Amino acid sequence: MTVRRGRNFLQTPGPTNIPDRILNAMHQPAWEYSGPDFAALARECLTDIRPIFKTDGKVFIYGSNGHGAWEAALSNILSPGDKVLVPETGLFSFAWSAMAKDLGVTIETIPSDWRHAIDANQVEEYLRADTKGEYRAVLMVHTETATGITSDIPSVRKAMDAAGHDALLVTDVIASLACTDFRMDEWGVDVAIGGSQKGLMCPIGLGFNATNDKARAVAKAGGSPRAYWDWEARSTARPEVYRWFAGTAPEHMIFGLREALDMLAEEGLEATFARHRRLGDATRAAVSAWSTAGAMELNALVPGQRAESITTIRMGKDYDGKAFQGLLRENFNVAVGGGLGQLEGKAFRIGHMGDVNEPMILGTLASIEAAFQILGTPYGEGALPAAIASLAKAHGT
Ligand SMILES: *Cc1c(COP(=O)(O)O)cnc(C)c1O
Repeated sequence: MTVRRGRNFLQTPGPTNIPDRILNAMHQPAWEYSGPDFAALARECLTDIRPIFKTDGKVFIYGSNGHGAWEAALSNILSPGDKVLVPETGLFSFAWSAMAKDLGVTIETIPSDWRHAIDANQVEEYLRADTKGEYRAVLMVHTETATGITSDIPSVRKAMDAAGHDALLVTDVIASLACTDFRMDEWGVDVAIGGSQKGLMCPIGLGFNATNDKARAVAKAGGSPRAYWDWEARSTARPEVYRWFAGTAPEHMIFGLREALDMLAEEGLEATFARHRRLGDATRAAVSAWSTAGAMELNALVPGQRAESITTIRMGKDYDGKAFQGLLRENFNVAVGGGLGQLEGKAFRIGHMGDVNEPMILGTLASIEAAFQILGTPYGEGALPAAIASLAKAHGT
C-alpha cells in the first residue's frame, strides 16, 4: 500500500471530515446509561438540535445512518397501500422512493432530467389532479447529493397550499442541514430527515426525524407496524433515557453531537451557511474555468439551483472515473465522490460540506487540476486564480 503522509483530504459529500474536537469529545469511557449525567446530556442534545432545524417541534434521534432515518419517517406516517408524490431529483430521491415501495407504499414520481431543481408548478399540477386526495405525503430531497442541486422548499409548500392539498411535506435535509439555510417551521415542513455525517461533522451513526404536531398526529393514528422507529414510544414513556433511544443510547455519538452543536453555536449558523456559500462559489468558479475546454461542465444548469455543499461535475465521453479518483487518492491523498446512478462513470463530485475551509478547497482544486494534467484531460486555464479571486472577493469589504 502507498504510504500517504499529511492530512487526508476527504472531500466527499459524506462522510465528511470529522474535526479533532469531535473525535476528542468521543474519546472517553462509557457513562452509566441510566444515570442522571447522561440523561441531562441527552435531554440537552434533543433540545439543542432544534435550532439546527429551525423548529420548535420534536426531534427524534436514532442510532442509524440516513437510510434508517428515512425508514423511521416513512414507517411512522405511511401505511402499506398509501400513495405518495415524489418529485424526482436524482439518485437519493430514487433510492428513498424505492424504500417506500419496499414498505408497500405506492409511488407517483414526477420525472426530472437530474439537471434542474424541483418545479413547484408541476408539483401543484399533480396535486390538483389528485381530486380524491390520495397522496398522503410529498417526499422531497432538499439538496440532492447526486446532482449538486438544491430545490426550493417554500415554493413546494406554496404549491401544496395553492392546490389545497392536505399531504404531509416530508423533506430529506441530510445534505443541507447545517450547510444551507433550512427553516422547518417557517417553511411549513412537517417532517425533516437528517444524518450526523454531513454538515453535522460527526461520524456516521445518528439519524434524525424532526416532526411537527401534524406529523405526529398522523403517526399516532396510523402508519406501518413499527417498533424501534416509533415516535410515540420514544415520547410517551416516562422521561427515561432508555425509551428516548429505544434501548441503550449511542452514547459516544451523543458525545460527538454535543461537541458539534457547540461548534455550530460558536460559529453561528448564518456564518456556517456563508462559509459554505463562499467555498461553493470558489469551487464553481474553478469548474467554470476548466469547462471552457469543452471536456466537462457543471451538472446543475441553473446558477441559482447549485448546491452550497456539493458540486457535481459532468465529464465528457473520454473520462475514466476510476483512473481519476484512483490517481487523486494515491498521489494526492484526496478523496472526491464518483458519479451516482445515471451519472455513474460520467461525473465526479466535490463535497464542500461540514468542517471545511479555504485552503482545503484550494488544495483540492489544485490537486484535481494536477490529475487532469497527468491524465491528459483537457481543461481551461485560470481555474485556481478564479477560485482565489472568488474567495478574496468574499472576504473583502
Ligand atoms: C447521504 C445522503 C443520504 C443517505 O445517508 P446514509 O447515511 O448513507 O444512509 C440520503 N439523502 C441524502 C440527500 C444524502 O446526502
